[in-house]
Amino acid sequence: MPSKIILCVVHGKTGRLARLNFTQLCTSEREPEVRLALRIRYKKKLNHRLLNEHVHKLCYNVLVYDQC
Ligand SMILES: [Zn+2]
Repeated sequence: MPSKIILCVVHGKTGRLARLNFTQLCTSEREPEVRLALRIRYKKKLNHRLLNEHVHKLCYNVLVYDQC
């Protein structure tokens, strides 16, 4: 079975990566966190809902915790 294509909301890029490399924004606390961080760091404004969207784990950590 081919792996599902998942879109990282940070890059806006899809990847055929394993699900374990991704984290899902499944809580409503994480959504504004990511939205705000994207605005500040990438000057990127997302209008669609981020809830239940996927982000690379690495992207999420860099974005929210400022770690690499
Ligand atoms: Zn990413």
